[in-house]
Amino acid sequence: MSARADAIHALLPQTQCTRCGFQGCRPYAEAIAAGTSSINRCPPGGQTTIRQLASLLQTDEVALDPECGREGPAMVAYIDADRCIGCARCLPPCPVDAIVGAQRQMHTVLNDLCTGCELCIAPCPVDCISLIPRSELQPTSPEPTAADNLQRYEAHETRRTRREQERLALLAARKRRIDAVVP
Ligand code: SF4
Ligand code: SF4
Ligand code: SF4
Repeated sequence: MSARADAIHALLPQTQCTRCGFQGCRPYAEAIAAGTSSINRCPPGGQTTIRQLASLLQTDEVALDPECGREGPAMVAYIDADRCIGCARCLPPCPVDAIVGAQRQMHTVLNDLCTGCELCIAPCPVDCISLIPRSELQPTSPEPTAADNLQRYEAHETRRTRREQERLALLAARKRRIDAVVP
């Protein structure tokens, strides 16, 4: 990534929510740096991020693109324990690993890690995940910083990549065994 894209990336909230239309903050930063996307597509960052990007890139501050969503209060995911069936489908999509639970056990959200990115909601087959304003949490829980989010996302991606490599290696080994016995 270029120094220009690095500087842009450093200003983004790192929720990896994809609302900008890109598969995460880094591809969006690269598109802005390349001049192929505008600076007003990040609802979690809102007007503050747009202003910072405009200042960095010496361009005009513009309003958030409504096609990407609206700026709003910080939210956190909430899992209705009575309805959760423990299928674990919400675990892989969470970019910051803010959900804990195991197969056939009730899952729960770690409030201090959740960015409110919404990526866990669609995969839930029983619609038991909703978003609530962070300000309504009792006890209160501080919003994670962009640096926290990025660190946890990179750890998540490293683990995901390793598991995928292990899965492919297992498949390849199985195929070699089958090829060895089947003429
Ligand atoms: S936080 Fe902003 S830049 Fe990052 S993925 Fe979400 S909308 Fe895109
Ligand atoms: S728990 Fe859901 S809303 Fe919260 S960070 Fe994870 S995927 Fe996003
Ligand atoms: S996807 Fe929904 S039902 Fe499945 S474990 Fe997560 S919260 Fe529970």
